[in-house]
Amino acid sequence: MIRTRFAPSPNGSLHLGHAFSAIVAHDLARAAGGEFLLRIEDIDGTRSRAELVEEFLADLQWLGLQWDGVAVHQSQRLASYTGAGQRLKAMGLLYACRCTRADIAAAAGELGPDGPVYPGTCRGRQVDPDGAAWRLDMAAAVSRAGPLEWIDALAGPQRADPARFGDIVLLRKEAPASYHLAATLDDAADGIALVTRGADLFEASHIHRLLQALLGLPVPRWHHHGLLVEGDGRKLAKRHGSPSLAERRLAGEDGLALAAALRAHRFPAGISLAEGVSGEP
Ligand code: GLU
Repeated sequence: MIRTRFAPSPNGSLHLGHAFSAIVAHDLARAAGGEFLLRIEDIDGTRSRAELVEEFLADLQWLGLQWDGVAVHQSQRLASYTGAGQRLKAMGLLYACRCTRADIAAAAGELGPDGPVYPGTCRGRQVDPDGAAWRLDMAAAVSRAGPLEWIDALAGPQRADPARFGDIVLLRKEAPASYHLAATLDDAADGIALVTRGADLFEASHIHRLLQALLGLPVPRWHHHGLLVEGDGRKLAKRHGSPSLAERRLAGEDGLALAAALRAHRFPAGISLAEGVSGEP
Protein backbone atom coordinates (compact mmCIF):
# COMPACT_ATOMS: atom_id res chain seq x y z
CA MET A 1 0.00 0.00 0.00
CA ILE A 2 1.23 3.48 -0.82
CA ARG A 3 1.47 5.82 2.14
CA THR A 4 2.60 9.41 1.65
CA ARG A 5 2.95 12.34 3.99
CA PHE A 6 2.97 16.10 4.10
CA ALA A 7 5.50 17.35 6.64
CA PRO A 8 5.32 21.11 7.22
CA SER A 9 7.50 22.94 9.74
CA PRO A 10 5.55 25.38 11.93
CA ASN A 11 8.00 28.24 11.57
CA GLY A 12 5.94 30.29 9.14
CA SER A 13 2.50 30.23 7.53
CA LEU A 14 1.85 27.87 4.63
CA HIS A 15 1.69 29.37 1.15
CA LEU A 16 0.64 28.19 -2.30
CA GLY A 17 3.77 26.07 -2.72
CA HIS A 18 2.87 24.12 0.40
CA ALA A 19 -0.70 23.68 -0.86
CA PHE A 20 0.63 22.28 -4.13
CA SER A 21 2.98 19.94 -2.25
CA ALA A 22 0.23 18.70 0.06
CA ILE A 23 -2.07 18.11 -2.91
CA VAL A 24 0.61 16.07 -4.71
CA ALA A 25 1.17 13.89 -1.64
CA HIS A 26 -2.54 13.53 -0.94
CA ASP A 27 -3.55 12.73 -4.51
CA LEU A 28 -0.76 10.20 -5.12
CA ALA A 29 -1.89 8.29 -2.05
CA ARG A 30 -5.60 8.50 -2.80
CA ALA A 31 -5.14 7.53 -6.48
CA ALA A 32 -3.47 4.32 -5.31
CA GLY A 33 -6.06 3.63 -2.60
CA GLY A 34 -3.38 4.44 -0.03
CA GLU A 35 -3.00 6.68 3.00
CA PHE A 36 -1.95 10.28 3.43
CA LEU A 37 -0.36 11.26 6.75
CA LEU A 38 0.36 14.65 8.28
CA ARG A 39 3.57 15.21 10.21
CA ILE A 40 4.37 18.40 12.03
CA GLU A 41 8.14 18.98 12.01
CA ASP A 42 8.26 20.98 15.24
CA ILE A 43 11.64 20.19 16.78
CA ASP A 44 13.46 23.35 15.86
CA GLY A 45 12.98 24.96 19.27
CA THR A 46 14.32 28.30 18.13
CA ARG A 47 11.90 28.69 15.20
CA SER A 48 8.84 26.48 15.88
CA ARG A 49 5.61 28.29 16.82
CA ALA A 50 2.94 26.05 18.35
CA GLU A 51 0.09 28.40 17.34
CA LEU A 52 0.81 27.72 13.66
CA VAL A 53 -0.19 24.06 13.95
CA GLU A 54 -3.92 24.87 14.30
CA GLU A 55 -3.56 27.21 11.33
CA PHE A 56 -2.01 24.41 9.22
CA LEU A 57 -4.82 21.98 10.09
CA ALA A 58 -7.43 24.57 9.16
CA ASP A 59 -5.61 25.36 5.89
CA LEU A 60 -5.53 21.70 4.84
CA GLN A 61 -9.19 21.18 5.70
CA TRP A 62 -10.07 24.33 3.76
CA LEU A 63 -8.29 22.82 0.72
CA GLY A 64 -10.32 19.62 1.17
CA LEU A 65 -7.28 17.53 2.12
CA GLN A 66 -8.15 15.03 4.83
CA TRP A 67 -5.24 13.17 6.38
CA ASP A 68 -5.46 9.67 7.84
CA GLY A 69 -5.15 9.18 11.60
CA VAL A 70 -3.90 11.90 13.90
CA ALA A 71 -1.14 14.29 12.95
CA VAL A 72 2.29 13.13 14.12
CA HIS A 73 4.37 15.71 16.01
CA GLN A 74 8.12 15.23 15.91
CA SER A 75 8.36 16.79 19.38
CA GLN A 76 6.69 13.60 20.68
CA ARG A 77 9.32 11.36 19.16
CA LEU A 78 12.52 12.65 20.68
CA ALA A 79 13.42 9.27 22.20
CA SER A 80 13.57 7.73 18.73
CA TYR A 81 16.01 10.40 17.53
CA THR A 82 18.21 10.15 20.63
CA GLY A 83 18.26 6.36 20.32
CA ALA A 84 19.37 6.49 16.69
CA GLY A 85 22.03 9.06 17.64
CA GLN A 86 23.35 6.67 20.28
CA ARG A 87 23.50 3.83 17.77
CA LEU A 88 25.47 5.97 15.33
CA LYS A 89 27.80 7.05 18.15
CA ALA A 90 28.31 3.40 19.14
CA MET A 91 29.27 2.67 15.51
CA GLY A 92 31.95 5.37 15.83
CA LEU A 93 30.30 7.47 13.12
CA LEU A 94 29.56 10.68 15.08
CA TYR A 95 31.95 13.15 16.64
CA ALA A 96 31.38 16.18 18.86
CA CYS A 97 31.99 19.60 17.38
CA ARG A 98 31.96 23.03 18.98
CA CYS A 99 32.72 25.10 15.88
CA THR A 100 30.53 28.14 15.33
CA ARG A 101 29.13 29.17 11.95
CA ALA A 102 31.75 31.91 11.91
CA ASP A 103 34.55 29.36 12.49
CA ILE A 104 33.27 27.32 9.55
CA ALA A 105 32.92 30.35 7.28
CA ALA A 106 36.45 31.49 8.23
CA ALA A 107 37.88 28.09 7.30
CA ALA A 108 36.54 28.79 3.78
CA GLY A 109 35.87 25.17 2.89
CA GLU A 110 34.36 24.01 -0.38
CA LEU A 111 30.78 24.87 -1.20
CA GLY A 112 28.43 21.89 -0.94
CA PRO A 113 24.72 21.52 -1.81
CA ASP A 114 23.80 23.09 1.56
CA GLY A 115 26.43 25.83 1.83
CA PRO A 116 30.04 25.66 3.01
CA VAL A 117 31.23 22.10 3.65
CA TYR A 118 32.50 21.60 7.20
CA PRO A 119 36.30 21.46 7.03
CA GLY A 120 36.54 18.63 9.59
CA THR A 121 38.23 20.76 12.28
CA CYS A 122 36.93 18.72 15.24
CA ARG A 123 37.20 15.28 13.62
CA GLY A 124 39.66 13.17 15.65
CA ARG A 125 39.89 15.84 18.39
CA GLN A 126 38.92 15.46 22.04
CA VAL A 127 36.00 17.90 22.27
CA ASP A 128 33.92 18.41 25.42
CA PRO A 129 30.62 16.79 24.31
CA ASP A 130 28.53 18.78 26.81
CA GLY A 131 26.33 21.03 24.68
CA ALA A 132 28.28 20.22 21.50
CA ALA A 133 26.77 19.37 18.11
CA TRP A 134 27.35 15.86 16.76
CA ARG A 135 28.57 15.48 13.21
CA LEU A 136 28.52 12.46 10.95
CA ASP A 137 31.98 11.30 9.88
CA MET A 138 30.87 11.22 6.26
CA ALA A 139 33.85 9.34 4.81
CA ALA A 140 33.54 6.61 7.46
CA ALA A 141 29.75 6.43 6.99
CA VAL A 142 29.97 6.19 3.20
CA SER A 143 32.61 3.50 3.37
CA ARG A 144 30.60 1.50 5.92
CA ALA A 145 27.41 1.72 3.83
CA GLY A 146 29.01 0.92 0.46
CA PRO A 147 27.43 1.98 -2.87
CA LEU A 148 23.76 2.91 -2.61
CA GLU A 149 21.00 3.79 -5.02
CA TRP A 150 17.62 5.38 -4.69
CA ILE A 151 14.76 5.94 -7.08
CA ASP A 152 12.87 9.13 -7.80
CA ALA A 153 9.60 8.54 -9.59
CA LEU A 154 10.23 11.50 -11.93
CA ALA A 155 14.02 11.68 -12.24
CA GLY A 156 14.67 7.92 -12.26
CA PRO A 157 17.39 5.90 -10.51
CA GLN A 158 20.04 7.89 -8.63
CA ARG A 159 23.43 6.84 -7.34
CA ALA A 160 23.55 8.09 -3.74
CA ASP A 161 26.22 10.75 -3.41
CA PRO A 162 26.04 12.11 0.15
CA ALA A 163 29.80 12.76 0.39
CA ARG A 164 29.40 16.21 -1.22
CA PHE A 165 27.68 17.41 1.94
CA GLY A 166 30.71 16.68 4.11
CA ASP A 167 30.37 16.01 7.83
CA ILE A 168 26.80 17.18 8.43
CA VAL A 169 25.34 17.83 11.88
CA LEU A 170 22.87 15.13 12.97
CA LEU A 171 22.29 16.17 16.60
CA ARG A 172 22.37 19.76 17.70
CA LYS A 173 22.40 21.56 20.99
CA GLU A 174 19.39 23.73 20.19
CA ALA A 175 17.37 20.96 18.45
CA PRO A 176 17.29 17.31 19.48
CA ALA A 177 17.89 16.01 15.95
CA SER A 178 18.62 17.47 12.55
CA TYR A 179 15.90 17.52 9.92
CA HIS A 180 17.75 14.74 8.06
CA LEU A 181 17.82 12.33 10.99
CA ALA A 182 14.30 13.04 12.25
CA ALA A 183 12.64 12.92 8.82
CA THR A 184 14.41 9.68 7.86
CA LEU A 185 13.46 7.97 11.12
CA ASP A 186 9.87 9.15 10.93
CA ASP A 187 9.34 8.13 7.32
CA ALA A 188 10.51 4.64 8.31
CA ALA A 189 8.47 4.52 11.54
CA ASP A 190 5.33 5.56 9.69
CA GLY A 191 5.79 3.16 6.79
CA ILE A 192 5.99 5.96 4.21
CA ALA A 193 6.48 4.06 0.95
CA LEU A 194 6.57 7.15 -1.25
CA VAL A 195 8.33 10.25 0.07
CA THR A 196 6.83 13.20 -1.79
CA ARG A 197 8.26 16.69 -1.42
CA GLY A 198 9.54 19.60 -3.46
CA ALA A 199 12.55 19.39 -5.75
CA ASP A 200 14.37 21.77 -3.36
CA LEU A 201 14.84 18.75 -1.09
CA PHE A 202 16.03 16.42 -3.86
CA GLU A 203 19.67 16.61 -2.73
CA ALA A 204 18.71 15.80 0.87
CA SER A 205 17.57 12.36 -0.29
CA HIS A 206 21.21 11.36 -0.85
CA ILE A 207 21.76 11.83 2.88
CA HIS A 208 18.51 10.11 3.82
CA ARG A 209 19.42 7.07 1.73
CA LEU A 210 22.76 6.84 3.59
CA LEU A 211 21.05 7.11 6.99
CA GLN A 212 18.62 4.35 5.99
CA ALA A 213 21.53 2.07 5.18
CA LEU A 214 23.40 2.86 8.42
CA LEU A 215 20.33 2.39 10.61
CA GLY A 216 18.88 -0.62 8.77
CA LEU A 217 15.69 1.21 7.79
CA PRO A 218 13.36 0.31 4.90
CA VAL A 219 14.01 2.19 1.66
CA PRO A 220 11.04 4.08 0.19
CA ARG A 221 10.66 5.54 -3.28
CA TRP A 222 10.75 9.29 -3.70
CA HIS A 223 8.75 11.75 -5.75
CA HIS A 224 10.28 15.24 -5.87
CA HIS A 225 7.80 17.51 -7.57
CA GLY A 226 8.57 20.78 -9.33
CA LEU A 227 8.32 23.98 -7.29
CA LEU A 228 5.99 26.90 -7.69
CA VAL A 229 8.06 29.95 -8.53
CA GLU A 230 7.53 33.66 -8.99
CA GLY A 231 7.98 35.21 -12.42
CA ASP A 232 11.65 35.85 -11.67
CA GLY A 233 12.21 32.17 -10.92
CA ARG A 234 12.45 32.57 -7.16
CA LYS A 235 10.75 29.98 -4.96
CA LEU A 236 7.48 31.34 -3.52
CA ALA A 237 7.83 32.93 -0.14
CA LYS A 238 5.68 35.20 1.90
CA ARG A 239 8.35 37.87 1.98
CA HIS A 240 7.98 38.18 -1.78
CA GLY A 241 4.35 39.20 -1.35
CA SER A 242 2.37 35.99 -2.07
CA PRO A 243 -0.45 35.79 0.47
CA SER A 244 -0.35 32.82 2.85
CA LEU A 245 -3.03 30.14 2.75
CA ALA A 246 -4.40 31.44 6.05
CA GLU A 247 -4.71 34.95 4.62
CA ARG A 248 -6.55 33.60 1.57
CA ARG A 249 -8.81 31.45 3.76
CA LEU A 250 -9.63 34.29 6.15
CA ALA A 251 -10.31 36.59 3.21
CA GLY A 252 -13.09 34.20 2.19
CA GLU A 253 -11.44 32.57 -0.83
CA ASP A 254 -12.88 29.20 -1.88
CA GLY A 255 -10.27 26.60 -0.82
CA LEU A 256 -11.75 23.77 -2.90
CA ALA A 257 -11.66 25.95 -6.01
CA LEU A 258 -8.05 26.89 -5.26
CA ALA A 259 -7.13 23.19 -4.84
CA ALA A 260 -8.85 22.37 -8.14
CA ALA A 261 -6.92 25.14 -9.90
CA LEU A 262 -3.59 23.94 -8.47
CA ARG A 263 -4.39 20.37 -9.58
CA ALA A 264 -5.04 21.67 -13.09
CA HIS A 265 -1.80 23.70 -12.96
CA ARG A 266 -3.78 26.92 -13.23
CA PHE A 267 -1.75 29.25 -11.05
CA PRO A 268 -2.36 32.87 -10.05
CA ALA A 269 -0.77 35.46 -12.33
CA GLY A 270 3.01 35.62 -12.03
CA ILE A 271 3.34 32.12 -10.57
CA SER A 272 4.43 29.05 -12.50
CA LEU A 273 5.61 25.51 -11.95
CA ALA A 274 9.37 25.14 -12.40
CA GLU A 275 10.79 22.03 -14.00
CA GLY A 276 11.70 19.34 -11.49
CA VAL A 277 15.16 17.87 -11.24
CA SER A 278 16.74 16.36 -14.34
CA GLY A 279 17.21 12.62 -14.64
CA GLU A 280 21.00 12.77 -14.30
CA PRO A 281 22.05 9.85 -12.10
N1 GLU B 1 9.58 20.15 6.92
C1 GLU B 1 10.11 20.31 5.60
C2 GLU B 1 9.65 21.63 5.02
O1 GLU B 1 8.69 22.21 5.51
C3 GLU B 1 9.68 19.22 4.64
C4 GLU B 1 10.38 17.99 4.90
C5 GLU B 1 10.08 16.82 3.98
O2 GLU B 1 9.05 16.80 3.28
O3 GLU B 1 10.87 15.90 4.01
O4 GLU B 1 10.26 22.09 4.09
